[in-house]
Amino acid sequence: MAWHKFFILIALMVALLGPQFIRISQHSEADLARGVQASSNPSEQYDEKPALEVIKPEPARIPLPDGQVGRIPILMYHQIGSGPDCMWVETSAFRAQMQYLHEQGIQTITLSQAAALLQGHYDTSKMVVLTFDDGYDTFYQHAWPILQEFNQTATVFVISGLVGNPGYMNWDQVKFLSLQGIEIGGHTLTHPLLPDMSAPSAQKEIEQDKTNIEAQLGQAISSFCYPTGRYDGQIQRMLVEAGYENAVTMVQREASSQDRLLLLPRWGVYQGDSLARFEKLVK
Ligand SMILES: [Zn+2]
Repeated sequence: MAWHKFFILIALMVALLGPQFIRISQHSEADLARGVQASSNPSEQYDEKPALEVIKPEPARIPLPDGQVGRIPILMYHQIGSGPDCMWVETSAFRAQMQYLHEQGIQTITLSQAAALLQGHYDTSKMVVLTFDDGYDTFYQHAWPILQEFNQTATVFVISGLVGNPGYMNWDQVKFLSLQGIEIGGHTLTHPLLPDMSAPSAQKEIEQDKTNIEAQLGQAISSFCYPTGRYDGQIQRMLVEAGYENAVTMVQREASSQDRLLLLPRWGVYQGDSLARFEKLVK
């Protein structure tokens, strides 16, 4: 009789609690599907899907013939999605651009990978670097799913003092992306105009930012982006002292092996750009 009662008790518990479990499970699935907007605590999003480290293949190292200059377009994006100004590239336009790269067999590589290839005089044809400035949450929401779809990578420059603020990614997202092969680079603590600051203040902006990011990622970073593209000789020396190896400006042209690695130019990609313009930038 005692066993009989026990089984009835278990059956009652399953009947009462079962639907609760199902509801909890469905809620979590919906949260995952909606991504970053689903929860105020983003770490919840990764509970069911642990962040596995993704090892992306290194680009091939094919030496360039003597005398030939290595060239690679480095593209500059800010926001992906619908927004009020030219810095917002519509998600559909971004997807068309990534699909074009995919169809043309143009490989996306990170800035540090590109710098190593340029410096070593390796062939960088059929390669492109995608950079995203400021660490906006639209990268995680809109760009990242498309990059994943086409198995592409990128370099994201975060402003460590703004990580976690409204409109910006939080550290859980930044760390997750780093584990997925996205390169994280420095973009200062607060995005000041570095050449206009006192030397100690500029140094703090560069060094403290790098320390913050490296502490979060648990690894060194080597790429930097000058806020609003502003730099001078002193700022470049500070980057070297801080241990940076590559930096991007907002000078609008293709990068080449003749460029200094701390002054790499980029092509800006803007709202309303035609696919024809994009094709010219990356060919
Ligand atoms: Zn910026």
